[in-house]
Amino acid sequence: MTDRPVTTTNAGTPAPSDEHSQSVGPDGPLLLQDHYLIQKMAQFNRERVPERVVHAKGGGAYGFLEITEDVSQFTKAGLFRKGARTDMLLRFSSVAGELGSADAGRDPRGFAMKFYTDEGNYDLVGNNTPVFFIRDPQKFSDFIHSQKRRQDTHLRDNNMQWDFWTLSPESAHQVTFLMSDRGTPASWRHMNGFGSHTFLWYNAAGEKFWIKYHFKTDQGIKNFTADEVPLQHPDVHIRDLHEAIARGDHPSWTVEIQVMPFQEAADYRFNPFDLTKIWPHGDYPPITIGRFTLNRNPENYFAEIEQAAFEPANFVPGIGPSPDKMLQGRLFSYPDTHRYRIGPNYLQLPVNAPRNAVHSYNFDGPMAYRNMPDPVYAPNSAGGPVADPALWAGDTYHVAGDIMRSANSLHRDDDDFVQPRALWENVLSETDRAHLVTNIAGHASAPEVTTDTKKRVVEYWTNVHKDLGHAVSQALGLA
Ligand code: NDP
Repeated sequence: MTDRPVTTTNAGTPAPSDEHSQSVGPDGPLLLQDHYLIQKMAQFNRERVPERVVHAKGGGAYGFLEITEDVSQFTKAGLFRKGARTDMLLRFSSVAGELGSADAGRDPRGFAMKFYTDEGNYDLVGNNTPVFFIRDPQKFSDFIHSQKRRQDTHLRDNNMQWDFWTLSPESAHQVTFLMSDRGTPASWRHMNGFGSHTFLWYNAAGEKFWIKYHFKTDQGIKNFTADEVPLQHPDVHIRDLHEAIARGDHPSWTVEIQVMPFQEAADYRFNPFDLTKIWPHGDYPPITIGRFTLNRNPENYFAEIEQAAFEPANFVPGIGPSPDKMLQGRLFSYPDTHRYRIGPNYLQLPVNAPRNAVHSYNFDGPMAYRNMPDPVYAPNSAGGPVADPALWAGDTYHVAGDIMRSANSLHRDDDDFVQPRALWENVLSETDRAHLVTNIAGHASAPEVTTDTKKRVVEYWTNVHKDLGHAVSQALGLA
């Protein structure tokens, strides 16, 4: 006997052996009655849940959000009360690669946050870019199909990617970010995050505002150039975050918001609910409201990160969705993927469970263990939980129109190229521009990219800016 604990089966009974299966004699066949062996093999076969179709490869950590400014004139949400401190989880990810893919490859990065507030979980499922490739969820699965693997060869295919992008001009702004050096961040700690969508905030008096979130890295922006991307080290970003937190070097981000008074949306020069657009800072200056810090690594990657389930539909009173069509699509698709990947009771897992009490009449299903109220229906006369609609007072607004399938209405400055052009003209340095051109040309000169696609690539970038189109055309040898 040693003082080490005894190995057990999953049922807690002592395991018969760590080494030998039960057999007929030392050399004979194995027995079906060896429950421990069968349990081990069966559980092993079930160790994986399906990987996320997008954002499969990632890592994350816990931390806390602190609010330093008074924003009660904009929202009544408790987590944004001045002085509030709220525990949180942040998962970073790449988008297109599978679970074992290289962290550092060219891709947007997911920036998914879960805040464990006193009023239930608030999730903000953002990216490291303020915009996205498309503006209607009708195109989402097609877009992702073009970025993942071909159905015949199982290879990724740059021709497919450029084919989709050049036929979808609304992608130009996001593809400019992607092809710039911000498409290859040096670490998750050294990139900004964005809520990307527009959200509704409302205060205790029911006054409404449209909001955008920005999370500015306090570590400074650092990117790899195309030549520096360490593709041979698949886990550089997971390792960087884990090691930084383990040595006490806790990364933080400054939280900023842009605030648009509710009535201004109708006449603003850009459609403020178009996910391919930013709100220029000159129009709506960012306001700093606090900071969050990551200070604790997960102890069990699978339980706490692989099974972490973020859903942009988790709002708390004081916050709601905007009519951004991509956000509207995500309100459904995120919880739906969790029900499929993890199971309908994913919100009972410790990483996903709210820290406040749950009084829900939803119950049962695989792996359920939360107690439900008695009686199990509403309304009831037995003193069970009752909804309080007053908590959500303020989240209503008037909408009317014919039912249709249509592009977003265009506001006076709306155009797919005007904002990527501003990025090229006013923001990118000479070096940034040179790298943008070589990154585009490197990507679009893969052997599978056809001459027809290359011509469309040049046209696409010429629409952003004639100098950019010209430089890409020269780099592709089409001049
Ligand atoms: P501003 O000059 O006020 O802001 C430009 C923004 O670009 C800053 O937030 C800056 O912040 C960010 N930026 C700086 N260098 C780069 C880079 N190499 N790649 C991407 N972003 C960079 O201009 P506007 O607000 O009028 O926006 C002009 C253009 O800037 C937009 O069309 C958009 O493409 C881009 N942009 C705008 C943002 C916004 O929310 N208004 C946010 C990010 C980019 P930081 O370096 O801290 O990220």
